[in-house]
Amino acid sequence: DNSNKTILVTGCAGFIGSNFVPYFLDKYNDYNIVNLDLLTYAGNLGNLKEAQNNPRYKFIKGDICNRELVEFIFNEYDIRGVIHFAAESHVDNSIKNPGIFIETNVNGTFTLLDVAYKYWMDAPFKYKERFTTDASASAKPRFHHISTDEVYGTLNETDLFTEETPYAPNSPYSASKASSDMIVRSYQETYGLNTVITNCSNNYGPKQHDEKLIPTIIRKALAGENIPIYGDGKNIRDWLYVLDHCKGIDLVYHSGKEANVYNIGGKNERTNLQIVNSITSILDEKVPPKEKIDKESYKELITFVEDRAGHDRRYAIDATKLENELGWKADENFDTGIVKTVNWYLGKYNDN
Ligand code: NAD
Repeated sequence: DNSNKTILVTGCAGFIGSNFVPYFLDKYNDYNIVNLDLLTYAGNLGNLKEAQNNPRYKFIKGDICNRELVEFIFNEYDIRGVIHFAAESHVDNSIKNPGIFIETNVNGTFTLLDVAYKYWMDAPFKYKERFTTDASASAKPRFHHISTDEVYGTLNETDLFTEETPYAPNSPYSASKASSDMIVRSYQETYGLNTVITNCSNNYGPKQHDEKLIPTIIRKALAGENIPIYGDGKNIRDWLYVLDHCKGIDLVYHSGKEANVYNIGGKNERTNLQIVNSITSILDEKVPPKEKIDKESYKELITFVEDRAGHDRRYAIDATKLENELGWKADENFDTGIVKTVNWYLGKYNDN
């Protein structure tokens, strides 16, 4: 359907993108989505089963750093907006192998921005002619960059991250995301590209890669293996159900103010130890440990391991701006969200 707007959404075979795509296609019937994803170890098309037969969804395997490919996509599909998820996302990997984080997160974001700018605003495409004479495309095309609260560094026990908190990234991952945020900002300030950035706290929910904390806890518990917890287990993260993040992105993409940054977080701080205790309690009820691993409780598997280098102590988000300006709130509370999440991984790991 030619009246539909086509947007480029990168990295949808990963955790958050694969939750976002079905949500977005369900909610709106006047968008087409082109998903550009390299299918690195973190990408899994199996996460997108709900979308794969939808005529408004198209998958293209490729690298966001590949300028020719990105230009081809803009031209071929007349891209009218970008929501940019693709990234290397695992802090531990960034400590072992930082180069790919700079390549994908910094250079990849730059490539997308530069092509968007050239296509939408620069000669020979002439943004003004293209988008002010065509009523159906009157909205200025927007580039929405998905980022993290980790750019702000670590917090003391009482403060919260606001949009004004100075950047102080501590890991190669957060430094690469902070750099990409700055490049986005520069395309807004220098070239007038319509950009928004969202910085979100830790997400949890279905479809997250096995390597991350919550899937690791469930996987190791069911296998009767030690559940590794860094340091003293008292590092604090602010956990948000992935669909609440997707709803925040939807609001900011459509109604956020140009050139603005919005923090997204559900005021749900938990230490890693609280997370592992919640999950093992749920597992103890659902999958009797005596039968599965011959222990009284999965908690017996919790093992403290040497702390992650540069491990930030606490992250916590103040989402007042998003709540007040755009009416966002988290719908899922942690106690129900974590049960849904555990159920989803039980399905996954029991099928394997
Ligand atoms: P993920 O690692 O699960 O998925 C990343 C996806 O990007 C994968 O499908 C991968 O194949 C793809 N990708 C990687 N390099 C690529 C490249 N060069 N070209 C094209 N595709 C490439 O990550 P996620 O957890 O879904 O995170 C998505 C975004 O949200 C990231 O930008 C991340 O920084 C941000 N974020 C994540 C969280 C979280 O808790 N997971 C929180 C805040 C922000």
